[in-house]
Amino acid sequence: MTDIASQGGVPARLARLKDLAYNLWWCWHPEARALFKDLDFTHWASTHHNPVSLLRQVPSERLERLAADPAFLARYDKVISNFDAYLGRKDTWFRKAHPEFEGKAIAYFSAEFGVHNSLRIYSGGLGILAGDHCKTASDLGLPLVGVGFMYPQGYGQQRISTDGWQQNVYEHVDWETSPVRPVLTPAGQRLKVDVGWGGWNLYINVWEVVVGRVKLYLMDTNVEGNAPPDREISGRLYGGDKTMRLRQEIVLGIGGVRMLRALGVPVSVFHANEGHCAFLFLETLREKIAAGKDLKDALSEVSEQSAFTTHTPVAAGHDVFDEQLVAQYFKTYWPALGLDEDKFLELGRAPGEHGWNMTALALKLTGRRNGVSRRHGVVSRHMWRKLWPELPEEKVPISYVTNGVHMATWLQQELARAFSKHLGEDFWDRQDDPQLWSKVAAIPDEELWALHLRSKLELFRLVRGRVRSRWLAGHADSSQIVASGCLLDLSALTIGFARRFAAYKRAALILRDLDRLKRLLNDPFRPVQLIFAGKAHPADDGGKNLIQQIYRLAKDPAFGGRIAFIEDYDMHVARYLVHGCDLWLNNPLAPLEACGTSGEKAAINGVPSLSVLDGWWEEGYNGANGWPIGQPGGRGSGEAADQADSVDIYEALEKKIIPLYYDRGSDQLPRGWIKVMKESIRSVAPRFCGNRMVKEYVENFYVPRAPVAAKSRG
Ligand SMILES: *Cc1c(COP(=O)(O)O)cnc(C)c1O
Repeated sequence: MTDIASQGGVPARLARLKDLAYNLWWCWHPEARALFKDLDFTHWASTHHNPVSLLRQVPSERLERLAADPAFLARYDKVISNFDAYLGRKDTWFRKAHPEFEGKAIAYFSAEFGVHNSLRIYSGGLGILAGDHCKTASDLGLPLVGVGFMYPQGYGQQRISTDGWQQNVYEHVDWETSPVRPVLTPAGQRLKVDVGWGGWNLYINVWEVVVGRVKLYLMDTNVEGNAPPDREISGRLYGGDKTMRLRQEIVLGIGGVRMLRALGVPVSVFHANEGHCAFLFLETLREKIAAGKDLKDALSEVSEQSAFTTHTPVAAGHDVFDEQLVAQYFKTYWPALGLDEDKFLELGRAPGEHGWNMTALALKLTGRRNGVSRRHGVVSRHMWRKLWPELPEEKVPISYVTNGVHMATWLQQELARAFSKHLGEDFWDRQDDPQLWSKVAAIPDEELWALHLRSKLELFRLVRGRVRSRWLAGHADSSQIVASGCLLDLSALTIGFARRFAAYKRAALILRDLDRLKRLLNDPFRPVQLIFAGKAHPADDGGKNLIQQIYRLAKDPAFGGRIAFIEDYDMHVARYLVHGCDLWLNNPLAPLEACGTSGEKAAINGVPSLSVLDGWWEEGYNGANGWPIGQPGGRGSGEAADQADSVDIYEALEKKIIPLYYDRGSDQLPRGWIKVMKESIRSVAPRFCGNRMVKEYVENFYVPRAPVAAKSRG
């Protein structure tokens, strides 16, 4: 691994750019982003906003010139001083609230982390939540470390063929140009940890990603000394069959704990983000037994120090393995727990079901458990009541922490500047204070609307830019160009629908009555347009069929180019969409949306939701900040429910949303609409921001029983 410094490319005066490139802090600080962008815009674009790669490519004459440019140096110095101040800040919220936690750490395990596009180790919502959790933990000063995988092949990128069929392209991650660095031993060797047992030698190397004050430690099994099949374990996110999946989860859970021990991280709380990581609790149990505890005490200690978040209200979404497969791997492991085969396999059994269930395992071994919205808490208690047959359902010990979003990642930067001006510079620190947000009313309508139109313009520029490269590359026909959004109209009411194409998300609901939809879209005075984006799981042909159905309509001249499908939905596209659409549509089959976070991202940007009353929206909708579909808890499933929900969508659009959007005075401002935008920001920002979420995890999960005396010491 060559270091940038050894290439001699960066002048000494700008040397700290390297530190900045390797700390993803830059990605939620606009001045730092702008610094990289202005270093060399062409390479910034061609590297897809990857500073590590950028620093390798920007010509040294260019850097020399900037190192002598007073205006650039002033900006550089300011960014570096903010960066250092951030890293060095002692009076963080966590330090002040929990001085007794000094010297301890929280380990946050997740199969994926969505921090920035330049690090393709995420697929969707779960990973982005994990990324937002880490960024927020950094802002608040939590001593948190992330544990996950470095996937050399990442997650597939999406291409849509001429006839609308999704193709997956896997691109190898280039370590040298990713914001990751190998973890070395004090002697300068690659840290290599043996995470196997019973004659299975399985080694991992460790990579470090720095996210502000938080470190992610990522494991990689492509290591010298591993058997060839073992080298593939960390190859691809969610790739391979059940056996591969089990092997990945063994490395993630058991390997993760061993890695933390090798690194010497003083972990006092283990948090598993979804069942994939649940083997970690077996390993901490084994450690305690090896240290001489009896099983009962060991179990209670594991439970005390463990937290588990479940994300899946869909039964099929939980990881279940064949018991025989599990036994094959663990038969030399369970003796160390003092268990026999049956007692061991019992740990992963859900009553009345077959197989080894990772969620059941996690629920049994952890002391604090939660779903990710109020409704999801209810659904999870119902789903898992069989584990606590002696308790009434409402007493089942699974609570909830509603997901929130990292504001600095998702807030449009000009809008953030307006918030600074009208709410106060300290609004970032006070983002979970509802009082503060009442000041949104003071933002002049014309200012908010102008900012929104700018975001919308930026979105359309992104879309057109992508269409243009497609056109320039010469392998797109004109109907594909239309389907990709080149006829989108800046003045038309623009509805965004972007998420994973899984059946329960019902992407085609708004297409149920095509004649009615056609009338809405083609209205010459009050046109409406739809922008879709999202990937189907590579193995999900149902999801791919949905994409194809939408793509064919997007190409169909009868819809006037007012339906667009944007390829390769990722964090970059998501940002533009949640900033620049007018309305955010979400119509999953309730109650299957655990939380949903894209609507939260949109809402804090003044993009209200038209959404099923499920997940976060059931808590967030207040009658004035957007529009509902259906009723709380849903209408059940099936044809009739789909039909009724789709009618709700058309009616809300025809009777309320479209008239409100196009109701303009002589100044052309949609005052009524702007009122909904403001109410959306005011009511959603403090309740669904990352600070509120992470503080709840801290108080209820990480340090719930902090002694009062210790607290008052701070
Ligand atoms: C926020 C986000 C998601 C999750 O959105 P949901 O509303 O929970 O479906 C998925 N993918 C990307 C790229 C996102 O930014």
